[in-house]
Amino acid sequence: MSDCIFCRIAAGDIPAEVVAQDDDFVAFADLHPLGPVHVLIVPRRHVASMAELGELPSEVVAGLLPFAARVAREAGVEESGYRLLTNTGPDAGQEVLHLHWHVIGGRPLGGMA
Ligand code: AMP
Ligand code: ZN
Repeated sequence: MSDCIFCRIAAGDIPAEVVAQDDDFVAFADLHPLGPVHVLIVPRRHVASMAELGELPSEVVAGLLPFAARVAREAGVEESGYRLLTNTGPDAGQEVLHLHWHVIGGRPLGGMA
């Protein structure tokens, strides 16, 4: 989608600090990091949120967790720990309507409350 900022980052049309990528995913630094490590992982194919997960090929869905583990390992937080999360819809405060996962770490993150 040409008007989607994460599609444009994935396509290389908008600059971002890309930290990892493969055929299905691009990972880049969050503009407003919540920790020393804050990376966003987006599928190259546009879907708005988890509500549209069924529109992604099953091999892309299956690839997400291994890709996230790779991002965490390469970011150096595999041992110290990190949080992998996705915000879905208004109650979660989803701001960008292109499915993405946050990898946040590099400091104690506290509870989930
Ligand atoms: P969410 O609330 O889950 O939709 O999170 C959206 C995230 O995207 C926020 O953490 C923003 O800081 C981040 N963000 C928005 N625009 C950009 C951008 N151009 N490059 C990197 N991160 C961005
Ligand atoms: Zn998009």
